[in-house]
Amino acid sequence: MPVTDILQKKNFSREDIIRLLSITDKSEQEELLKKAYSVKEQIIGRKVYLRGLIEFSNLCQKNCLYCGIRTGNTKVTRYSASDEEILEVAKFAHENQFTSLVLQSGERYGRDFTKRITSLITKIKQIATPEFRITLSVGEQSFDTYKEWFDAGAERYLLRIETSNEELYRKIHPDNKLHSFKTRLQCLENIQKAGYQTGTGVMIGLPFQTTENLADDLFFIKKMNIDMVGMGPYLEHADTPLYMYKNSLLPLYERLNLSLRMIAVLRIMMPDINIVATTALQAITPMGREMGLKAGANVLMPNLTPAKYRGNYLLYDNKPCIDEDADECIDCLANRVKMIGEEIAYNNYGDSIHFTKRGIRTQQTLTR
Ligand code: SAH
Ligand code: SF4
Repeated sequence: MPVTDILQKKNFSREDIIRLLSITDKSEQEELLKKAYSVKEQIIGRKVYLRGLIEFSNLCQKNCLYCGIRTGNTKVTRYSASDEEILEVAKFAHENQFTSLVLQSGERYGRDFTKRITSLITKIKQIATPEFRITLSVGEQSFDTYKEWFDAGAERYLLRIETSNEELYRKIHPDNKLHSFKTRLQCLENIQKAGYQTGTGVMIGLPFQTTENLADDLFFIKKMNIDMVGMGPYLEHADTPLYMYKNSLLPLYERLNLSLRMIAVLRIMMPDINIVATTALQAITPMGREMGLKAGANVLMPNLTPAKYRGNYLLYDNKPCIDEDADECIDCLANRVKMIGEEIAYNNYGDSIHFTKRGIRTQQTLTR
């Protein structure tokens, strides 16, 4: 079916999505991206929400086969930023009109870790404002831990499912209890249940991944009623087990284009969610994130990690901006956003409209 006809439809079938993701023709891709951008423009506007990102520690107990900071990679110099350093970044974010900070790290468990995050959440809210939004991205935890952090004031949580296909999930993770698809899924559900604006996502262009898998990922995101999505190209890291499949991967530019089509199709399927233009897009080409915004994404996450740690948080090879200072990054960012005809929505919390509506619906159900 011609792309133009598919784009007229109210709901896409699995075949439609596979057809859209398989586009190779340049003008068809432009048509898809343009449509997605117009949906974003209509619902969200030509606005970009900023979230500061701090990768506060690369200590990780897991061993995901694709990730450069997996515990098995002994070449990594491990670090954990101090509370003072993290709070300094929060202060910087607040003073520079960011309304939100994402705290990301490797996965760790235990009461000490939980307590530390709880206390950081409280302190960040004091340094900024009670409304300042905190997003956590620290992996799989118990429901009680998710709840404790939510009650302390974290509103958003990012946990990528990585792939919604259990078989593929097994191929890209070690075969043990610590890397279980079912647990990952359960965690995502617990995050929603605890009350968070819930973010998930997948890697695009993984070894063994098919277009059908990716179409199912989009259905998964929709079915799970997800509020925020961060998905980007899988990029190889030389010191990981998956590196041996590097010759079977899509060429980088095709991975970039496929990622853009994934963003575009998702934007059309879920007009009111927040979608991040990920750093991994920028690792392929300097304007990668701006291309993501033009394909329907509406969120950027500038890296505010202290420069001295950046070189040790390399999930994949060729990660951009690793020796830049935060201020430099922000200045160039505003200009780049302007260049594509958009503006940064300063002083706007940028909650997912989808989440807000979901909340109202829940409220209505409760009061009925
Ligand atoms: N430890 C936490 C958060 C840090 S990892 C967690 O795993 O949830 C954040 C994300 O980085 C992962 O979800 C994964 O999707 C992405 N990532 C890891 N290695 C990558 C790679 N080689 N290429 C692209 N993305 C990668
Ligand atoms: Fe650890 Fe996350 Fe990397 Fe897996 S993806 S090894 S959990 S940091």
